[in-house]
Amino acid sequence: MSDDARVYSYSAVLMGSPILLKLFEHNEPLASRVFKLIKQYEDLLTVNRAQSQVMDIIHAAGVNPVSVSRPVYELIKCAKAASLVPGGAFNLAIGPLVKRWKIGFKGDSVPPAEDIAQLLTLTDPHNVVLDDAQSSVFLTRAGMEIDLGAIAKGYIADRVRDYLRQQGVTLGLINLGGNVQTLGSPEGGWSIGLKKPFAQDNALLGTIEVVNKSVVTSGVYERFFELDGHRYHHILDPRTGYPLDNELDSVTIIASESLDCDLWTTLIYGMGVEKGIAALRGRPDIEAIFVTKQREIILSSARHYRFTLLDDDCRLIA
Ligand code: ADP
Ligand code: MG
Ligand code: MG
Repeated sequence: MSDDARVYSYSAVLMGSPILLKLFEHNEPLASRVFKLIKQYEDLLTVNRAQSQVMDIIHAAGVNPVSVSRPVYELIKCAKAASLVPGGAFNLAIGPLVKRWKIGFKGDSVPPAEDIAQLLTLTDPHNVVLDDAQSSVFLTRAGMEIDLGAIAKGYIADRVRDYLRQQGVTLGLINLGGNVQTLGSPEGGWSIGLKKPFAQDNALLGTIEVVNKSVVTSGVYERFFELDGHRYHHILDPRTGYPLDNELDSVTIIASESLDCDLWTTLIYGMGVEKGIAALRGRPDIEAIFVTKQREIILSSARHYRFTLLDDDCRLIA
């Protein structure tokens, strides 16, 4: 759809990422309100500033529970549930390790093994204690930190979708630094590119056509640093404290909610192809596209999207 003359694109940089809004009408004020909404949610959820509701929880670790607004509480509750999924790599309490590695930020380095072992003891999601009645969150040990970096964009993309719908928009797309959420069905559907891992030139492996769905990719090529010939990327394995190491270059999830996409990209990353496909058998609403280091593209299923292969070097396994 991107070449369609009727499409109006609005861009901004928020949450440290490029943001793109596509509408089928020229509506600058609406675009401004969308960007403002994104900023408001970022202010609640960020851990990259001194103050936010999430930072309030972190500052009170080992001391007292902190009541937060209902949406923030519900998001943390959802993140805790995902952190307890067997075999998944998602862990909302991964914060101390993320902060120590600083991957993708200034000063990233490989921490000494003793530090990693010590920080791992601060990442048990059971020690994130929730109280529904108070909407409160308590990190029971001093030094614990929650990190919603893997799901904040998905959550906010869904809120933008809801807002656009409420404003009477029937066709729209929001791309929050790689989290794509779509509204409605333009002619031919929305076409979303699947990036070729490590390509310098924005080359695509293929395109994913969707209607009213979100598409999210998590890849080891997104944010990383290299040292002594080894690549350290930004998705950490909560079991080891080191970047996840498996057969995958990227995982893409297609689902109605961008939050589900975000949770499942990280869950599935920890499971790998075989276990990931098995886990999705019980969730026909959630579909995965795996890209392996062997240049295979594996579809768990393709009920709610159409995939078109563009790269001849890859083998498509459906
Ligand atoms: P982005 O959208 O910025 O590319 P991802 O959605 O790929 O980020 O998630 C990576 C981010 O999630 C990391 O930068 C970190 O903040 C956080 N994170 C890293 N490892 C984990 C993990 N195992 N569980 C939950 N969050 C993680
Ligand atoms: Mg993300
Ligand atoms: Mg990502």
